[in-house]
Amino acid sequence: MNFLKKELENIKNKGQYRELTYLKGSQNKYCSFEDKKVLLMASNNYLGLCDDERIKKVSKDAIDNYGVGSGGSRLTTGSYDVHKKLEEEIAILKNREAALLFNTGYMANIGVITSICNKEWIIFSDEFNHASIIDGCRLSGAKIVVYKHSDMKDLKQKVKLYKGAKRIIITDGVFSMDGDIVKLPEIIKISKDNDIWVMVDDAHATGILGEKGSGTEEYFGLKGQVDIQVGTLSKALASEGGYVAGSYELIEYLKNKARSFIYSTALSPIVVSAALKALYIIKKDNNLRKNLLNNSKWFQEELKERGFCILESETPIIPLLVGDEDKAMKFSKMLFEEGIFIPAIRPPSVPKDTSRLRITLMATHTKENLNFVLDKISYVFKKLK
Ligand SMILES: *Cc1c(COP(=O)(O)O)cnc(C)c1O
Repeated sequence: MNFLKKELENIKNKGQYRELTYLKGSQNKYCSFEDKKVLLMASNNYLGLCDDERIKKVSKDAIDNYGVGSGGSRLTTGSYDVHKKLEEEIAILKNREAALLFNTGYMANIGVITSICNKEWIIFSDEFNHASIIDGCRLSGAKIVVYKHSDMKDLKQKVKLYKGAKRIIITDGVFSMDGDIVKLPEIIKISKDNDIWVMVDDAHATGILGEKGSGTEEYFGLKGQVDIQVGTLSKALASEGGYVAGSYELIEYLKNKARSFIYSTALSPIVVSAALKALYIIKKDNNLRKNLLNNSKWFQEELKERGFCILESETPIIPLLVGDEDKAMKFSKMLFEEGIFIPAIRPPSVPKDTSRLRITLMATHTKENLNFVLDKISYVFKKLK
């Protein structure tokens, strides 16, 4: 037990000790953190659907129809008609033959990577990939070759250097800390020229990018080019769960091999029904994501005009660079006092000296909300100096 205490002290001394904050009420643009009501500029609930009346109604009906727990793993007693329906709809959205639900995006990455790759494989992995991809790669036992973030020259060189029959490039579709989009056309070309598989994790892109909200493939007009599509139901889709979409054989293989699919209780029909309804809403109404992306563009212009250094993005993720860790923390804390929640992101989550405020927009933010945030950011920044 001494070891635990020591390690906790260690974390504290480095200023990296983390604690939970609890929300009261639902996740919407206004949230109550403990007892402070703030404007939320940090949610993955991009389309504001977590608190949508239509989805809440469907979820209540699901309780009446199915009860609460699923009661078993998917291969035993935990598969319901809604699981099947949602998998069919995800396959349609992603232009694939089939799809499979996992309990989280994290488990989808662990399941798909470890069931396919082993020590005979070489995985080319972007240095900024999500932790669940990194963990999946490590658990698989494959040779992991990390390439510089979105650096296609580096990737090409490494592809030349590391030869083998079984190779795969794995990347985020939208990178969570910088908000930038993968260079998919180049990656597809490299994969075709060298006979390498491609897997894209569209957690932040599904429901957001592309005319139909299908994600990065659709954004680039490259439908059907990626071998394995992964994503989550917990961001734009406002529910819980992860998925993999691909060929019929891929999905049948995962049902038989992916341990995080096989040995875990199925998602509750409640959250599955909620995700299904969110998918229908996203399909029917592209105004939500259009507004969101227009607002993001406008907000970025306004920040630049006020002299702030941002990483420009075509997504709702807007990093405002601060640099110094303590300054970023103080910035975030002072904004909270002013009624705005924007977290500071520090190493080890991002590289040294790039500490930042990570702003994410929601479709429900109005211009009035955003102007309020701009004014407060400018005001607090002046006080910080
Ligand atoms: C959020 C995220 C995940 C994890 O999804 P969960 O459903 O929250 O487990 C996986 N990959 C990426 C790229 C993500 O951004």
